[in-house]
Amino acid sequence: MPVITANQAQAEYDVIVVGSGAGGQTAYTLTMEGAKVLMLEAGRDYDPVQETPMFQTNRQAPLLGAGTMDKPFGFHDATVGGGWQVPDEPYTQVHTDPARQFEWWRSRMMGGRTNHWARHSLRNGPYDFKPKSRDGLGFDWPMSYEDLAPYYDKVEMLIGVYGENNGLENTPDSSPGVLQPPPIPRANEQLAKKFMAPMGIPVIPLHRAVLTQRQDPAVLPPKIHPGNAKAQRILAKAMSERAACFWATPCGRGCTIRANYQSTTVHLPPALATGNLDIIANAMVREVTLNARGLADGVIYIDKTTGTERRAKARVVALAASGMETVRIMLNSKSARFPQGVANSSGLIGRYVMDTVGASLSAQIPLMESLPPHNEDGAGGSHSYVPWWLYREQLAGKLGFARGYHIEFGGGRSMPGMGTGGGLEQHTRGSYGLKLKEDARRYYGSFMYFSGRGEMIPNDGSYCELDPVVKDKWGIPVLRFSWLWSEHEVRQADHMEQTFGDVVAAMGGRVLGRGGSRQRISPTSPLEMGGRVIHEVGGAIMGSDPAKSVTNQWGQTWDVPNLFLTDGAPFAGNADKNPTETIMALAWRASDHLLAEMKKGSF
Ligand SMILES: Cc1cc2nc3c(=O)[nH]c(=O)nc-3n(C[C@H](O)[C@H](O)[C@H](O)COP(=O)(O)OP(=O)(O)OC[C@H]3O[C@@H](n4cnc5c(N)ncnc54)[C@H](O)[C@@H]3O)c2cc1C
Ligand code: SF4
Repeated sequence: MPVITANQAQAEYDVIVVGSGAGGQTAYTLTMEGAKVLMLEAGRDYDPVQETPMFQTNRQAPLLGAGTMDKPFGFHDATVGGGWQVPDEPYTQVHTDPARQFEWWRSRMMGGRTNHWARHSLRNGPYDFKPKSRDGLGFDWPMSYEDLAPYYDKVEMLIGVYGENNGLENTPDSSPGVLQPPPIPRANEQLAKKFMAPMGIPVIPLHRAVLTQRQDPAVLPPKIHPGNAKAQRILAKAMSERAACFWATPCGRGCTIRANYQSTTVHLPPALATGNLDIIANAMVREVTLNARGLADGVIYIDKTTGTERRAKARVVALAASGMETVRIMLNSKSARFPQGVANSSGLIGRYVMDTVGASLSAQIPLMESLPPHNEDGAGGSHSYVPWWLYREQLAGKLGFARGYHIEFGGGRSMPGMGTGGGLEQHTRGSYGLKLKEDARRYYGSFMYFSGRGEMIPNDGSYCELDPVVKDKWGIPVLRFSWLWSEHEVRQADHMEQTFGDVVAAMGGRVLGRGGSRQRISPTSPLEMGGRVIHEVGGAIMGSDPAKSVTNQWGQTWDVPNLFLTDGAPFAGNADKNPTETIMALAWRASDHLLAEMKKGSF
C-alpha cells in the first residue's frame, strides 16, 4: 500500500485524520467526495494482501500456533504491532484491585484492530439511543436510530455484511438488498437453536462483515455514492477486486482475497485511488494545535522512524485514533485557552469510559461426539447468535439489572492446535494408545463455548486521565485508568452464566468451566475485567448540552468546531451490540456534516 514519508507531505490539507482503523471510514468518505486528506498512523505500514499467512497450518508455527505473551491470539494472528502491552507505550492503573482495573488492547499497524477483529457487525437499535428515557439510567444520545439508519445501510453495503432481517425487538432490520445471504448455521449452532427454542430464546443468523457472494459493482456504488460518478467508478473497481469467502481460513489472520472487512482492504484502497489521500505511517500524534482564533490548525506528531517532532497543517482535524488514544491526544493538547486539554471546557474528557460486559462458559456436548468428519464450519467465525430477548421482563423490573446482552457461540472443528485435546483425560479417564486416538476423534468438535456480550451503563468510576509521572518512549504522558462495574453489570454477568448453564443442561451437556481466570475480576465472579472484551468506547461523550458533553451529534467538539472525533470516543452509551459498525456509521455521518460545513465556509 503506497504511503508517503513525512518529507513528502504537502504544506496543508483540507482534513487530517488521525488513525487508520474503523475510524478510517472518515478518510474514505472525505476523499470520495473530493477533500484532500492526510492520514497519520502510529503503526507501521501493513498490506494484508501480501502479508497474511492465510494458508499456513498450525504445524508450521512455533508451539503449533498457540497464543503467547507477544501474540495472545496465536502466532498467525493479524496483529503485527500491539497486544495487551505495547513496547515503549505503557499505561497505568489508579487501583491495584483487578476489579477496578482496565486492560487495554491496542494494535499499532495500518488498519488498526480491523485487521483481526471478529467482524460481528450489529446495529444499535432504537432503544439503545434513548436508554435514559426508558429506564432513567445513563444518557440519551442526541440522535435517534432513524438518524443513523441510512448510514448503517451504506456501511453494510460498502463493507459487505452477511445476515438476515428477523424483525425482532430493538434488533433493526437492514433495508432490502443491503445484507449478504447468511451462511447456513454451524452444527453446534443448529443444535443450540433446537434446544433453546422451547426455552423462548431466539437463535438467528449473526451479522458479520464477510462476503458470502461477490458484491455487485453495477448496483451498489450508485446507491452508496448517488450523483458522484468518480466515486462510483472507483468503488466499482474496488468491489470487483474482492472475492467471496471460500470458507476455509481463520478470519483473525486477515484475508488476502478481501472477502472480509479490514480497513486495509476495503476503506484505504479506494480512498487512495481517488488521489486525494496521503498516508504517513509511524506517525505518532501527540497533540492538536490551535490558531489564534482557537480553531484547530493541525497536529504535532513524532516521526517514529527518526524520532523527530513534525507538524502537519489542515483546515479540519478528525481524531480516529481509537477512543482512548483520542482522549489521550486531547488531554495532551494543552494551551492557554484549554489548560485541561483541547475542547475540555466541560471537564468531561476521559470520563464515562465503557466496555462490553463479558462472561463465558465452556461445555462438552455428548450429542456432538463421534460426528463423521465434515468441513461445514464455513466462514472463519460464527454464523448464528442470540439477540437479547427479555426486554419486557427487564422493563417490568423482574431481572435485577437494567440492560440486556446477546450470546455468541464458539466451537466447531477448526484446525487442531496446541490446545486441542487439552483436558481430554477428564472425559476419557486416562485412555492411551489406540483407545486414546479413538477418544480424540470421538470428542473432537464436541466442545461448545457460550459468551455473553452485555450493555454497560456509563458511571463516574470508569475513567482515564493523564498519569502525572509516566511517559512513553517519546516523552508523551500516558493514560491512567480507573474501572468500576456497577451492580447492574455484576448481576447481568451472573444471569449470563445461569442462562448458559440452563442451555447446556437442556442440551444434555456438561459444564466444564468459566472463561480464563486471569481475565475475570475475581475467582468467584464470571464477570470479565474492564477492557477485556476490547469494545472500549466513550471518554468524550456526545450530547445536546455543551456543559454535559464534549461533542454534538456529529462528533464535532463544542469548543473547537473544526475538531471532530470519529472513533468510539463520543459514544454516549455502549449497547450490547458490538460497537464497530456504529463507529463507522457515525464516522460517515460526521464526515457528511464536516463536508457540508466546509462547503459553507464555516472553517
Ligand atoms: C480480537 C478482537 C475482536 C474484536 N471483535 C469485534 C467484533 O466482532 N465486532 C466489533 O464491533 N468490534 C470488535 N472488536 C473491536 C474493534 O476492533 C474496534 O471497535 C475497532 O477496531 C475500533 O476502531 P478504531 O478506528 O476506533 O480503532 P483501531 O481499529 O484500534 O484503530 C486506531 C488506529 O489509530 C492508530 N493510533 C492510535 N494512536 C495514535 C496516535 N497517537 N497517532 C497516530 N495514530 C494513532 C492506531 O495505531 C490504530 O491503527 C474486536 C477487537 C479485537 C482486538
Ligand atoms: S474464512 Fe472467508 S472471509 Fe475469513 S479469511 Fe477465510 S476466505 Fe477470508
